[in-house]
Amino acid sequence: MKKIKTVAVSACLLGQCCKYNGGSNRNDRVLRFTEGLQVIPVCPEVLGGLPVPRIPAEIRDGRVTAQDGTDVDDAFRRGAEAALRILQERGAELVILQPRSPSCGYREIYDGTFQHRRIPGRGVFAQMAAEAGIPAAEPEDLPD
Ligand code: SF4
Repeated sequence: MKKIKTVAVSACLLGQCCKYNGGSNRNDRVLRFTEGLQVIPVCPEVLGGLPVPRIPAEIRDGRVTAQDGTDVDDAFRRGAEAALRILQERGAELVILQPRSPSCGYREIYDGTFQHRRIPGRGVFAQMAAEAGIPAAEPEDLPD
């Protein structure tokens, strides 16, 4: 991985309690990797105006849908656009993404049935970042 100075990170990986259940996904490998770099934490779902905690959501038939059936796609897309703007304005050279999230998942997401079944796919923010040409990684891609 080339030497970078500015890295955006799913905020929950840095220990911010912005997950749907009010917890974090604090990841020591991510924390070690980002030491000494300019770090841009982003949580697209919070940027989209969603509360913490919130009802979990998955992508079903192309729309982000909460477990109670509410269509939350607009908020997810608004938040992903806001997060992408921040990355572009701050010149992020890499974004490190929380796996399997309907916003941040980069390789896999859940299949929309809320039964923990994984399928290949991307979350809304991860997809926008990829289309914008921002290199992405998941924690397991980082050096130990
Ligand atoms: S939207 Fe992304 S940053 Fe926010 S809690 Fe979910 S995985 Fe973490």
